[in-house]
Amino acid sequence: MLFVAVMEKAQQLALELLSLENKGYKALFLQGGASTQFLMVAYNLLNKKAAYLNTGTWSNKAIKEAKLFGELVEVASSKDKNFNYIPKGYAIPTDVDYFHTTSNNTIFGTQIKEFPNFDGVNVCDMSSDIFSRQLDFTKFDLMYAGAQKNMGPAGTTLIVIKEAILGKVERAIPSMLDYKIHISKDSMFNTPAVFPVYVSMLTLQWLKDLGGIPFIEAVNNKKAALLYNEIDRNPLFKGYAAIEDRSNMNATFNLVDDSHKEKFDALWVAAGINGLNGHRSVGGYRASMYNALPLYSVQVLVDVMQELERQV
Ligand SMILES: *Cc1c(COP(=O)(O)O)cnc(C)c1O
Repeated sequence: MLFVAVMEKAQQLALELLSLENKGYKALFLQGGASTQFLMVAYNLLNKKAAYLNTGTWSNKAIKEAKLFGELVEVASSKDKNFNYIPKGYAIPTDVDYFHTTSNNTIFGTQIKEFPNFDGVNVCDMSSDIFSRQLDFTKFDLMYAGAQKNMGPAGTTLIVIKEAILGKVERAIPSMLDYKIHISKDSMFNTPAVFPVYVSMLTLQWLKDLGGIPFIEAVNNKKAALLYNEIDRNPLFKGYAAIEDRSNMNATFNLVDDSHKEKFDALWVAAGINGLNGHRSVGGYRASMYNALPLYSVQVLVDVMQELERQV
């Protein structure tokens, strides 16, 4: 398969899986990670003022970049409780160029379950839960996601954008940061990250063949229920995130008594589990359960948690 066909197939599969075909959306596979999108969104969309919901590290980084381009309104923040919940019931100003959210907070283990109804342009960083659950994706005008969590190897970032929102800022935009230019070149304005796009195409095809987002969402719900049930049942552990905001992708939890840490760490390492330590800003543990993780891997962790209970 020649690369132009790979790119076209990957774009088509992304739009098909999100049910956004023939609805005015374009899919781009760009470089620079989701972190470049933090500034590219503002570069292309922020004229005067934008609204952001602050739900943790990644939102913070997005806010920091956007501040270089205009006035920012932080509509709400969960910083008061170290981002262990999703703020609700806040007002969004109507005179903003766009409203930005982070659908899943990878580090803190929270996930937006109900997005507010905002009449203007909706932008969402979906890096860590895209393709994991059914949403009405037509509610969003721009979605972006680094490939490395739910789609493929690091090195490419998916941007799904409604063309109609572009062309409204006055500033000149450098070509590499201009969505319109990338769209006009079918995401091949410069040399694309060919291997990451190829593997993303294969992953999206795998997901489609399984039954798409409805299928994987059911698996993800099972995985999350299995782990959260154990966190809640096992007296040695407690969950970090507010129950109603718990992420199905990243489960954060702590030992009730830190003196069990050495024993627990030895058990999960011996079971072949990797990377269970929480991010340093949260501590404790974080189990990431992206689309590619099978149910039996979660069972291995649950078995280890029960083994700890037997041993102490
Ligand atoms: C990982 C992650 C990012 C950063 O992605 P890069 O591709 O490393 O820039 C941004 N937002 C969220 C929600 C993430 O999980």
